Amino acid sequence: MAVARFLKLYNGLFDIGCRTKLYPSPCSRARGLSASASTSGGDGGCDGAPLPVLIVGAGPVGLVLSILLTKLGVKCAVVEKNKTFSSHPQAHFINNRTMEVFRKMNGLAEEIQKFQPPVNLWRKFIYCSSLTGSVLGTVDHMQPQDFEKVVSPVSVAHFSQYKLTRLLVEHLKKLNFQIREADNLEGLDCEAPRAREILMGHECISIDTTSNQCVTATVSYIEGGKCKERKFRCSTLVGVDGAGSSVRRLLGISLRGEKDLQKLVSVHFLSKDLGQHLLRERSGMLYFIFNTEAIGVLVAHDLEQGEFVLQMPFYPPQQNVQDFKPKICEKMIFKLVGRELLDIDVIEVKPWVMHAEVAEKYLSCDNRVIIAGDAAHRFPPAGGFGMNTGIQDAHNLAWKLASVLKGISPSSFLHTYEAERKPVAIFNTTLSVQNFKAAMAVPAALGLDPAVANSVHRVVSDGFGSILPSEVQKAILDGAFSLGRAQLSTFLLNESNPLGSSRLAKLKRIFDEGKSLQLQFPAEDLGFRYLDGALIPDVDSTSVPLPLPTGRRRDYIPSADPGSRLPHMNVRVWSDSGKEEKMSTLDLVCGDKIEFLLIIAPIKDSYNLARAAFKVAEEFRVSARVCVVWPLEVGHAFREGSKVALAPWENYLDVQEVRNPSISSSSSWWELCRMTDRGAILVRPDEHIAWRVKSEIIGDPILEMRKSFSAVLGVKLKAV
Ligand SMILES: Cc1cc2nc3c(=O)[nH]c(=O)nc-3n(C[C@H](O)[C@H](O)[C@H](O)COP(=O)(O)OP(=O)(O)OC[C@H]3O[C@@H](n4cnc5c(N)ncnc54)[C@H](O)[C@@H]3O)c2cc1C
Repeated sequence: MAVARFLKLYNGLFDIGCRTKLYPSPCSRARGLSASASTSGGDGGCDGAPLPVLIVGAGPVGLVLSILLTKLGVKCAVVEKNKTFSSHPQAHFINNRTMEVFRKMNGLAEEIQKFQPPVNLWRKFIYCSSLTGSVLGTVDHMQPQDFEKVVSPVSVAHFSQYKLTRLLVEHLKKLNFQIREADNLEGLDCEAPRAREILMGHECISIDTTSNQCVTATVSYIEGGKCKERKFRCSTLVGVDGAGSSVRRLLGISLRGEKDLQKLVSVHFLSKDLGQHLLRERSGMLYFIFNTEAIGVLVAHDLEQGEFVLQMPFYPPQQNVQDFKPKICEKMIFKLVGRELLDIDVIEVKPWVMHAEVAEKYLSCDNRVIIAGDAAHRFPPAGGFGMNTGIQDAHNLAWKLASVLKGISPSSFLHTYEAERKPVAIFNTTLSVQNFKAAMAVPAALGLDPAVANSVHRVVSDGFGSILPSEVQKAILDGAFSLGRAQLSTFLLNESNPLGSSRLAKLKRIFDEGKSLQLQFPAEDLGFRYLDGALIPDVDSTSVPLPLPTGRRRDYIPSADPGSRLPHMNVRVWSDSGKEEKMSTLDLVCGDKIEFLLIIAPIKDSYNLARAAFKVAEEFRVSARVCVVWPLEVGHAFREGSKVALAPWENYLDVQEVRNPSISSSSSWWELCRMTDRGAILVRPDEHIAWRVKSEIIGDPILEMRKSFSAVLGVKLKAV
């Protein structure tokens, strides 16, 4: 199979060859994960310097965190329990904010854009009776403004998680990371993994925080067929070990929310035949297929390569994974396609459970053990918030961890990570559940209420049915499901049947009113705002709060309120050479060091504030950069003004707005921020606004800046 060969060529570490595998782990199951974080024995004596950060888990969030920390000059290493990186496609939708984060990671966003399928092939969700049968409805999730880069310098993307992992690993290698395979551990230091190493086949099985100087993680691995253990010492341990996080369990952190919303199996398969058919007839990202023989959601990861994942509901204990052997899956796929496929290759079958939960806390053991990504929150995948939220956790955490480890901020500063990210996770959980329910509106309109299927399953499993032999339970369940699917018969579901016609009309209304599953959420994706944390909320009583995000698309409103992501606008940078470079306001923020950006207009008071910012930043041992936004009407010659006003400081830029020709009423920078040009904006290293003054700087600029840096970095003023 050409695609399989192509996939195998990516990297020997990407194991895609096995079938129906359940991710073997080295040996922890034998020992169990019972040790509690602070009571697992006092073996945490720390001679020598521990590694600053040990990351547990080499999923997308762990890999992104290791890149961000390394770029910020923080030494870290990763332990991963599997011997190979996951090759399951899983996540595929990368939202706008994550793409902005990737844009700053040495061209990662550009690589994703280069390798992802063309957008016209994945912009639609298609609802049909089979992939060769009638189409019930089509929803296009892109609008012209998505391509005009008005609200962001980059667009959303569709790229399989394992391909993203591969790119992240390549980026880590460029940062001199070494991937140590489980059978190549020669010279490995038992007490401290070297920085910039990813140790495959190493499972974290216990954490000891009894020493004040370091955290000791015990990891298990297999050597010569035997299960062995070694202890690794670090200053901070970050658990990014996924939805079933061992770190979270070892710390005794519980999850709040709804468990077990639905059980599903993912069937990863390849078929060029199907890919070519869909390319010709109906290209899309998701296919919701409803017929009398089968129901499923097909994710087209790449139509040209013929790479798909089929999601099907799964009802244990009446069903088990063995019911989804490759041959059985093939038959199921043929029923959904409406014909046989000659080249089908089922690569992997993976059961998974959908939850809607957030960890009660993100930090433990005096802020020395932290969780992020799926370890901290697990959402229904509707809307693709899981990995995106996790990557943005890493982006929030990296500069804060760097501030603490470099001695700029006290360790209590890390509380702002939880204060900022946990509400986002809670919000995104609600949004994902809302979107999951919207997805269910379609089968419900067709007379297939999924809640009924779940109730039948509950009655069979827990109610009177539970006393029946398992074969009888299975038969009852199968009978109930075929009865449900009978609602989809062409005899019933057609315009000349009164019931069918009313169901089809209801379906049309759902699509027309945008009430089915949505893909894009700009209001939440770009418009989320931290209310409490490493920021100073507006004290201005005239500040009008932003409308609450609605969960409906297209209502992102740029905002410079503290806690918001800095609005994007293209600016032209004036340089000494006279060469002008165009960039996004987001590019003015340097992600590779702990640097704050102050945005001002060329006004005397603002220049005073800028000089104060440079001086105070030095006191706080962080870097500051100033951006002077010049009005459109002035010429390049005016930039001498900044040189004179800011001397001797040199870390500043003079920029001029580039108005967007595609927007007739395009506003100025200060209008976009709903401020006057007498105001100023202080931006954090993660592009979120730390502080701003809307219209006038009142009081002593040095005191103002001291107050701001002290509050934002969590450093008490008297320490300065
Ligand atoms: C069907 C489906 C579709 C999805 N689609 C999207 C989407 O389109 N967009 C989106 O944003 N999200 C999506 N998601 C969610 C996304 O896949 C997850 O949010 C993402 O994988 C989380 O990344 P992570 O790095 O936090 O965890 P994981 O990807 O789970 O990685 C955790 C890593 O830790 C390792 N590990 C576990 N325990 C240990 C241990 N004790 N020691 C060492 N290593 C350990 C694991 O082996 C694993 O490699 C989807 C999820 C599903 C199920």
